[in-house]
Amino acid sequence: MNEPHVMPTYARYPVTLVRGAGTRVWDEGGREFLDFAGSLGVNALGHSHPAWLAAVRDQLGMLDMVSNLYATSPQAKLARRLAALMPVPDARVFFCNSGAEANEAAIKLARKRGIALGRPAIVALEGSFHGRTIAALAATGQPGKRAAFEPLVDWFRFVPPGDLDALAAAMTDDVGAVLLEPVMGEGGVRPLEDTYLRDVRRLCSERDALLVADEVQSGVGRCGDWAALHHSGVMADVLTLAKALGGGLPAGAMLARESISFAPGDHASTFGGGPVVSAGALAVLDTIEREHLLARARAIGEMLPVAAVAAAPADAVVEARGRGCLWGFQLPRPVADEAVVAMIDEGVLASAAGPDVVRMSPPLIASDDDVEIAAGAFGAAVAAALAPAHGVSS
Ligand SMILES: *Cc1c(COP(=O)(O)O)cnc(C)c1O
Repeated sequence: MNEPHVMPTYARYPVTLVRGAGTRVWDEGGREFLDFAGSLGVNALGHSHPAWLAAVRDQLGMLDMVSNLYATSPQAKLARRLAALMPVPDARVFFCNSGAEANEAAIKLARKRGIALGRPAIVALEGSFHGRTIAALAATGQPGKRAAFEPLVDWFRFVPPGDLDALAAAMTDDVGAVLLEPVMGEGGVRPLEDTYLRDVRRLCSERDALLVADEVQSGVGRCGDWAALHHSGVMADVLTLAKALGGGLPAGAMLARESISFAPGDHASTFGGGPVVSAGALAVLDTIEREHLLARARAIGEMLPVAAVAAAPADAVVEARGRGCLWGFQLPRPVADEAVVAMIDEGVLASAAGPDVVRMSPPLIASDDDVEIAAGAFGAAVAAALAPAHGVSS
């Protein structure tokens, strides 16, 4: 619900949540919901997974917080783990607290290198989403989100996703980086083709430009691999993470090849990589590994689109796009919000990714039954949202 003293930056759904456990959350009245919204991609392990909770509680009692003037063991371990798991050669990690901050750091790093080499411009994709801070917003290829804040920094030029010729033409001598989401999340859940990603990698290598992958939404198991980029076998020079990384605590990370680095004084974050968040993030990675959740995410990704499309009326889903535990269902009309509200009535939380795409980001621990329940709710909700009464009012 909208509270009078909370700034209305979100148009909220009519639910106030008080408790969560596993794949379920409960509202004030005790009503249970299956959570396939997952805090927009955060809750890979569901809510309050026991392993994550124990790690966070133990660390809270051991060492709550110290600044980055000192080393801590959870941060060092997390950096080592991320460097080993993510598709960035010889990575070093900068820790922060959100996706926008991770991208802000990546943009600053790309700018620092680009300015030194005389290649300061960055190419990004139309329809992309990189966050709400000024530079991340300037990199976001969605005019509606930018309009009220123009003029923004003019460091970015935009090309249509999947169009290699347009990218090659845009990559003139002044371009030092290409920024993309391997699976575009907010832009309607659009996985980029593996062949396109490999061609982008080749172009970047040929033209001395960094490939910067924004895996804030697609990374940490969400798409059935540690990073969505693994699907194509492509390595990034810089890669950003957030959402699922902290398991529910605010965590962000930017990985970069050792040869591309900030020096002391270039960049910083007071809270970034604090001991509690880092202990939680390590528990997320360990649990994904121990419970074989990458394979589970892929299995969910086989079932969910088939079941959801089957449950919906014929022609109600124009396209089902996604991978692993991130799916977007393109509707024939811009009624995604109506469909999400109708899913709430059916007891399932989902989210919209644009006006005409219903998105499901189930936890990687979802059962086959959970998938069936969500698919059934989706089918009923889409039928209701596309019924004539809604069509006239929308
Ligand atoms: C959510 C998101 C962001 C922004 O993350 P915040 O934590 O909200 O700042 C950036 N990039 C992508 C791809 C996202 O999905």
